[in-house]
Amino acid sequence: MRLTLRYGAKTAEYEVRESARLRTKLRIQVEPGGVLVVEAPAGASESKIRAGVQKRARWIMDHIDRFEAYRRHALPREYCGGEAHFYLGRRHKLKIIVQPGAARSVRLIAGGLEVTAPLGDADDVRLALQRWYRNRALSYFNLRTARLAAELPWVEAPPPVRLLKMKRYWGSCSPHGAITLNPALIKAPIHCVEYVLLHELCHLAEHNHSPRFYSLLDRHMPKWREAKEELDSLSEILLVA
Ligand SMILES: [Zn+2]
Repeated sequence: MRLTLRYGAKTAEYEVRESARLRTKLRIQVEPGGVLVVEAPAGASESKIRAGVQKRARWIMDHIDRFEAYRRHALPREYCGGEAHFYLGRRHKLKIIVQPGAARSVRLIAGGLEVTAPLGDADDVRLALQRWYRNRALSYFNLRTARLAAELPWVEAPPPVRLLKMKRYWGSCSPHGAITLNPALIKAPIHCVEYVLLHELCHLAEHNHSPRFYSLLDRHMPKWREAKEELDSLSEILLVA
């Protein structure tokens, strides 16, 4: 069954799938590409489904908008003024200042990223941004890791965080307790970053994905599944860009 959600001037089509697992609630998901999918308990009436989806309309439209923005992010980047780039889940428009002879630098300003570069062409701006993202990633990840670690009884001292560009992973934890993170994670929303950090810190106590590992995650971040789902849906886009 295909239905349409209306919210203000916006509309979104969705497909309803019957799910044997669900008893009363709907399960609403915005899949990669901004596709809205609604799972409903077997036998749920159309009006009940419509009402349930309508209740979450704002959340749904926000997510679809976000995916659309991320999708544009995956297109070839031009590194020109006005182009939006992500930092901790927020979009920032580039403002480019060409200053011959200047060293490349980037500043986070209200609503934007101000890039100063000697040439100001795409390569120049890309290199400036790359270095800025890496520096930001390193300091932010270390700061958040230290804060999280302080709440986790099994972590004696916060482990150092290393950056490594990976094609398929956000992070990893070595048997010796070193944490490696993908610098692209700095583009994801904060709760997604927190989830990855906590996931790796839990590996310091449990080196595998055992039930004990998941119970640690549950205890310290009850909503980690939502963060993981969101991050998984962004992976394709943020990891290739
Ligand atoms: Zn893991």
